[in-house]
Amino acid sequence: MTIGPPDEPFTGRPAPAGVGGREMSAGQADLLGLADASTESGAAVDRSADPVVASTRPASPASAEAVAAAGPSTTLRGADSSGADPGSDGLARPSRGGAGSDSDGEADSGDDGAEGRSPRSSRRVADPAKTRAVNAPEPRPVETHGPARIIALCNQKGGVGKTTTAINLGAALADYGRRVLLVDFDPQGALSVGLGFAPHQLDQTIYNLLMERDASVAETLIKTDLPGLDVLPSNIDLSAAEVQLVGEVAREQSLARVLRPLVGDYDYILIDCQPSLGLLAVNALTAAHGVVIPLECEFFSLRGVALLMDTIEKVRDRLNPDLTVDGILATMYDPRTVHGREVFSRVVEAFGDLVYGTVITRTVRFPETTVAGEPITTWAPGSGGAVAYRALAREVVARTERGDESAPSASGADS
Ligand code: ADP
Ligand code: MG
Repeated sequence: MTIGPPDEPFTGRPAPAGVGGREMSAGQADLLGLADASTESGAAVDRSADPVVASTRPASPASAEAVAAAGPSTTLRGADSSGADPGSDGLARPSRGGAGSDSDGEADSGDDGAEGRSPRSSRRVADPAKTRAVNAPEPRPVETHGPARIIALCNQKGGVGKTTTAINLGAALADYGRRVLLVDFDPQGALSVGLGFAPHQLDQTIYNLLMERDASVAETLIKTDLPGLDVLPSNIDLSAAEVQLVGEVAREQSLARVLRPLVGDYDYILIDCQPSLGLLAVNALTAAHGVVIPLECEFFSLRGVALLMDTIEKVRDRLNPDLTVDGILATMYDPRTVHGREVFSRVVEAFGDLVYGTVITRTVRFPETTVAGEPITTWAPGSGGAVAYRALAREVVARTERGDESAPSASGADS
């Protein structure tokens, strides 16, 4: 695969991978500031040589660090369609003290107070998320269930809203009458905790299903208080699987094998991945039909996307040819800050209709729900967060349940 025009070879890290069956274009890489960053990393990688797992350990940490070190000072080239200021990276740099979100409070107050602290941030820009908002139709009631679409919530960065999205998208889909299985695939067990279970007290978890041939799904599966929402929990035991699976036959297919008998019982199976691109993530991507990437609206989160796309593409090439990127979900969005709005606009420029019209705003209500041990859709059903995850569920249903076309096309998606 080549990326970039022939006269401008892509010389850095493995090329960013495709999106929804497409390859990431040079324009997309440029928009995300990746072309320069990877050139600076100077670490040319022969993509043909490395096996999937080897290539997906925190791959080429040296280059990843170089990318991080390049930081916001890296000039983004070729943002020709963006209307960004010439010579700028298109992102307002926060002044000392930060023009970023200074509050974890409800960010929908319309308070513009966060603006104007940086000389470059004084432009008033309309909230780009509002102009893209979609209101997907109410899902049709279903009489029968399955086969499930298996969706991996994946991003090797922690704290971007994977677990929150798994719980609340799952709960919202269940509210719309879908049967949903949440798979906690993170040894931290945050999804299990977020639904009110104490992971360390569980005898049987997903770990047993992965490692023991005779472990019983029925004894592992937990029903939540929400009708239609079940969980395969995990706990710290799962961290051992990453090591133990290495010696197994078809180690990348272990989760797929566990989920195969369950697909007929559910409409959606959501896998909450751990924040890494190791063997567990590869298992999730191998088991999945689609990937949803929660992406924090913050500068550095853009940098990790190329590595993630690269892993997705490798898994597609070698293990799971039908894997698509179902969508990119902007999370932790703060419309009051120029930075948040600009990062969001940049993500939309790069990925277009792949970005869900629904955007998850930063709000303290989410940490509250973790303590409460229930989804926001039941904890605070009228809150902005609950409304947003119901809107996301409608979008996911609209994209998934319209015949065979589950992934949006390059330009023609109806978002
Ligand atoms: P991940 O699974 O990607 O590590 P989480 O979903 O666990 O991320 O979120 C990390 C932390 O951020 C949690 O404490 C969670 O409650 C909080 N959080 C998630 N989404 C939001 C949001 N939209 N606004 C504010 N806090 C959030
Ligand atoms: Mg998590």
